[in-house]
Amino acid sequence: MDTELRELYQQVILDHNKSPRNFKKLENANQDAEGYNPLCGDKIHIYLNVEDGIVKDISFIGSGCAISKASASLMSTIIKGKSKEEAGIIFEKFHDLVTGKLTGEAEIEELGKLAVFAGVRDFPARVKCASLAWHTMMTALQGKDEKVTTE
Ligand code: ZN
Repeated sequence: MDTELRELYQQVILDHNKSPRNFKKLENANQDAEGYNPLCGDKIHIYLNVEDGIVKDISFIGSGCAISKASASLMSTIIKGKSKEEAGIIFEKFHDLVTGKLTGEAEIEELGKLAVFAGVRDFPARVKCASLAWHTMMTALQGKDEKVTTE
């Protein structure tokens, strides 16, 4: 990873930890899911308000490491207002990014701020921290009543 992206990565992690976006329980949530990453101890609860296939609102609460929290915070800002289909596509791209399947520079740049999470792909344990919120969001979106675990 180049220096610029690494600095941006640290900035995003710090910023979203200090002031996580949408960090609250959503009172009008109609879909939700819980996620747990036993490897690191990250816990998350994602709340969604979905209407006509659109994520009208999203929030999360939980406790965990800086990466899991920053990832959840950034995800919430990106997924808000998206359709179920769009959210699914972004999830796939993010997943490919952190697992190292997405390598094209243009494709990575297209992800905007999310691109900073390219930094975790060299640290397999961190991939689970970064993707916990995303897996949990997908489970909430699909309306599945099950607990997500990264194991
Ligand atoms: Zn973690």
